[in-house]
Amino acid sequence: MVTDAIVESVESRRDRLTDLALDIWDHPQTAFEETYAAGRLVEALEERGFDVDVGVGGIETAFVARYGDGDPVVGTMGEYDALPGLSQRVSATREPVERGGNGHGCGHNLFGVGSLGAAVGVADLIDEGVDGTVVYVGTPAEEAGAGKTYLTRAGAFDDVDAVVSWHPGWFNAPTKASCLAVDAFEVTMEGTSSHAAAAPEAGRSALDGIQLLNTGVEYMREHVPDPVRLHYVITNGGDAPNVVPPDATAEYLVRAPSRDLVESVTERFRRAAEGAALMADVDVEITKTSGVYGVRANETLGDAIYETMADIGSFSVSDEALASDLRDSLGDVSDALEELPPEVRDRAADRSYFTEPIEAPDAGEVGAYSTDSGDVSQVVPLGRMRTATWPVGTPAHSWQAVAASGSTGVDGMLYAAKSIGGTLGRLLTGPELLADVVDEFERQGGADEYESPMPDDADPYELLGVERPTFDPSDGSAGDSSGAEAADDD
Ligand SMILES: [Zn+2]
Repeated sequence: MVTDAIVESVESRRDRLTDLALDIWDHPQTAFEETYAAGRLVEALEERGFDVDVGVGGIETAFVARYGDGDPVVGTMGEYDALPGLSQRVSATREPVERGGNGHGCGHNLFGVGSLGAAVGVADLIDEGVDGTVVYVGTPAEEAGAGKTYLTRAGAFDDVDAVVSWHPGWFNAPTKASCLAVDAFEVTMEGTSSHAAAAPEAGRSALDGIQLLNTGVEYMREHVPDPVRLHYVITNGGDAPNVVPPDATAEYLVRAPSRDLVESVTERFRRAAEGAALMADVDVEITKTSGVYGVRANETLGDAIYETMADIGSFSVSDEALASDLRDSLGDVSDALEELPPEVRDRAADRSYFTEPIEAPDAGEVGAYSTDSGDVSQVVPLGRMRTATWPVGTPAHSWQAVAASGSTGVDGMLYAAKSIGGTLGRLLTGPELLADVVDEFERQGGADEYESPMPDDADPYELLGVERPTFDPSDGSAGDSSGAEAADDD
């Protein structure tokens, strides 16, 4: 059976996959700077015989790796960016490796390598005579920068028939929820500085403009459909109260379940910004810094993922002592447990890790979050899942998630590799399943309508304020040195 072959293939590489995930965990780099992780992943894929195209969509650390040349074409994705400020040792108490340093608080070190284990497993199937091609898309900058938006626009998924991806979490289940589309803006106002007491009449306050805009946003909040969410922070409000601020900047997010709704609200937001600038008699510049679609869920793929998980069964965690200390450090997790269906809540409540597969607990829901996987789901059927890489109830972006992603999380990562690989293998060998998946996708509107949420000339590096890194994976040392620098940097 296909899933058994994948399980065997992942098990045969257990140590290598584990070492690779922990090595990337040791070199945490943030959005668009992930040269170390991308280098290691490209190296491993090339070694297994994948053809790798690096620098896709104008992003240095993005790549597409392919194995096989037949039909159908199935794919998976790997993320590998870390988060700023979340440096943490493998320890059950808060203990940074380096104060203020980066850390893998979303488990993307496991994400990238788990998907690689799946892709390599499917390559093994192809070698054994299964027809088809497997594609691994290396997708940088998920936490900030929305890398997949640029990859989708560049056509990285165009010849792929179905994609199965995952995310670290604390239970094993397909994800059937959709989520919110979002647009992000940076608004800068420019006025005239003057002495705030001696010559206020000579000044025009950029901060006034920002505050008037925020007041406008607060009033707007009442007159938008209920699921719309508006958030903002002021990132520059001036330097000293005795100087009329000549410039001020704030960042805004507009979220809604559909792109259409996001766009109709952002149109009003732009007018509000212009109106606020007019009132404060200052100039305004509005820059769209990112935009993504909501995820379009594929229930057929979700069911296939669950069946694969059920075939594999559960798994045990290799370091139970650490797992249970980490779980204890979280304290009361009863709110998090609400995410599970009531009938399994009790079984999960008294364990460090909850590793039996369950059916999607979120079918039909719209998650109150956004991800650049949304764009991928507009052009290709996308199946998503979570596996238990973290102790029960662990929130993403917590220090406990960092600690587990560098230790006990690898068991759940191998489980993800098997579950994704098994599902992709079933798509390659089961034409009816693939036809059903594509059929559902087409009923939802198919790939025809994709229009990038970002303008053609958007420069992802400039928008995020990140310098374009030098990345040449064929030079084995490139990844090493930049990784070491990043680890020492912040
Ligand atoms: Zn994440």
